[in-house]
Amino acid sequence: MDYQALAQLLFPDVTDTPEMLEEKYPVRNLPEGAVVTRMAPSPTGFVHLGNLVQGLTAERMAHQSGGVLFLRVEDTDAKREVPGAVEVLIDTLKHYGIQFDEGATHDGDNGIYGPYRQRQRANLYHVYAKKLVEQGMAYPCFCTEQELAAMREKQEANKETTGYYGKYAMWRDRSLEEIQAQLDAGAPWVLRFRSEGSISNQFKFDDLVKGKLTITENDVDHVLLKSDGIPTYHFAHAVDDHLMRTTHVVRGDEWLATLPFHIQLFRALDFKLPKYVHIGPLMKMDGTSKRKLSKRKDPELALTFYKAEGFPVKAVYEYIMTILNSNFEDWRRAEPDKEATEFKFSPKKLNPAGSLFDYAKLTDVSKNVISKMDAETVYALLLEWALEFDPDFAAKLAADKDFAVAILAIGRGGKKPRKDLATWKEAKPYMGFFYDDYLEAPVFDEKFDKATVKTVLEKFVASYDPTDDSAAWFEKVKEITTAIGFTTDMKAYKADPAAFPGTVADVSTFIRQAVTGKTNSPDLYTVMQILGKERSLERIAKVIATL
Ligand code: GLU
Repeated sequence: MDYQALAQLLFPDVTDTPEMLEEKYPVRNLPEGAVVTRMAPSPTGFVHLGNLVQGLTAERMAHQSGGVLFLRVEDTDAKREVPGAVEVLIDTLKHYGIQFDEGATHDGDNGIYGPYRQRQRANLYHVYAKKLVEQGMAYPCFCTEQELAAMREKQEANKETTGYYGKYAMWRDRSLEEIQAQLDAGAPWVLRFRSEGSISNQFKFDDLVKGKLTITENDVDHVLLKSDGIPTYHFAHAVDDHLMRTTHVVRGDEWLATLPFHIQLFRALDFKLPKYVHIGPLMKMDGTSKRKLSKRKDPELALTFYKAEGFPVKAVYEYIMTILNSNFEDWRRAEPDKEATEFKFSPKKLNPAGSLFDYAKLTDVSKNVISKMDAETVYALLLEWALEFDPDFAAKLAADKDFAVAILAIGRGGKKPRKDLATWKEAKPYMGFFYDDYLEAPVFDEKFDKATVKTVLEKFVASYDPTDDSAAWFEKVKEITTAIGFTTDMKAYKADPAAFPGTVADVSTFIRQAVTGKTNSPDLYTVMQILGKERSLERIAKVIATL
């Protein structure tokens, strides 16, 4: 077979050579050990937690080593593409602190290793496709869908492995004349790799997450170029990651199955093989068993979910770090005030089987993160969230900033800050009662007759003095308690509840309910200080009127 002639026949327009491309995309001038890696998503419009897990791994590896993180858009499957998906992806990842140094941008490219959208790289793939044909390592295949289906059926009937390999590789050794005839007839073709591998050969391979793997050689003549001249993932991966000078490929472990082919392809193309970081899937507990997070069943897979719930970015970030590197939590305990980027991230600490996503844990992490913020920060983030997801609440927060900040300052600072909030969505249920519109009518425990509640409230109104400190305030509550025959001795009450009609805790609850509408609230003394005497007593008066 005259491979030169075949290459010319298939790629008459390709005049560039691999050597020219090597020169055009030079080896990066970076310090020893600098990691060049990328995110290579398909623009489907759905940005999920898995993207963040991979993105963060790639970002940490690149930036921690003084390397480069770039974005390559894998848009070879035009059918799956959603308009605006690239923008959504860039913005979402940026929101979570992942900034690309290079790659596809909203309106073009940033960097000299582009273009960074695969559909714009067709001519580059063809240069290497032509080279492979010239070397006898790739050939055109004119099989129709029907022929491939028939082949598969036969293999299934024979209980053989399915695929285009060995004796089933129908176009592997056809003559130039046969190929020419098909081309002349305008028959569509794909370009296939001529595999010299054998499934009876195995070799060792080191993955940065999975560790030592035993790999079986590939014997399938996989497709390199589809009939429209657009590459498959495999071929594009090899060409792109070589020309973009990727040192580490961070990707999902669903690609492990075709890794043998990728290794083979890099070798055939005479490319240096990058290091691989194959990340396991995100799992969750479902009853007593683990399963993969699924787009269909688990709303928490979508990153939009966390935004809508109002998890601060920092909380999601910290949580992802805890699931990526098991030692992150210990480090965080020892270094509560450091930026997470100061933590030494290692891909070797990833769980090879995939990380377990635990919503309750995320909530804990988030409570911690929010508890450490100052009231001004909480106010700003809450307002930003509310503007998008609860405009009515946002208007109230914005109308009187000082009031809102004073509320949000309750229990903040100090050694043991309160941990009331895990999300911004929880803020309204927590503090809404401060705003008259959100105040609910109290429902008093039926155990107590209305007259008792009324007496307590009347006595409280009569005695309330906003200049009292919290101790004096509580003294008055105790006095009321004794006056109505309830006890202030909680120990005695616990020992024999039947001996007392009620306690100081009940009295406090009546007042709390009258002021806040709820049985639970932050420190009532402080709540009343923030509300002010007039509003507090007005609220109580309104409740008295209903009793
Ligand atoms: N487009 C591929 C994916 O989304 C990229 C995998 C890779 O990073 O190489 O799975």
